[in-house]
Amino acid sequence: MVSSTDKIFNWARKSSIWPVTFGLACCAIEMMATFASRFDVERFGMVPWASPRHADLMIVSGTVTIKMAPMLKRIYEQMPDPKWCISMGSCANSGGPFRHGYHVVKGVDRVVPVDVYVPGCPPTPESLMFGILKLQEKVAEFQKTGKRSAPGLLTPDPA
Ligand code: SF4
Repeated sequence: MVSSTDKIFNWARKSSIWPVTFGLACCAIEMMATFASRFDVERFGMVPWASPRHADLMIVSGTVTIKMAPMLKRIYEQMPDPKWCISMGSCANSGGPFRHGYHVVKGVDRVVPVDVYVPGCPPTPESLMFGILKLQEKVAEFQKTGKRSAPGLLTPDPA
């Protein structure tokens, strides 16, 4: 096999994304279901992890309150680079049904940078898994170009 060490490391990064476990509200129930045996995310090399210091993905699942935002940011900052963030569900994306509440952050991208948005209230495990596959594409692109592609609303592939 002929391959550069970089290529091997990059393939390993894309294929072993470890998300720090950090659920905030009802969307977290769907995230936990995604990590359960029925959906088997281990086949993507994923291991839900309790420490941010060993994780490279934060899945923000649920309502981000203004009170919780500093803790969320602190956990994100404790993750080593390169690190990634999936915003899961309407609340994390934009404040969702609580958008007009005085206590809710109107989108977690105001606190940490987001790479993939997964819409829904709540998104199903299948939606989150689709978001994870999209994130893998972004990780692969970052490894090739050294640049992060712009975040965007996750939409189904037209194909
Ligand atoms: S998006 Fe819906 S399901 Fe998810 S945390 Fe908000 S209210 Fe709950």
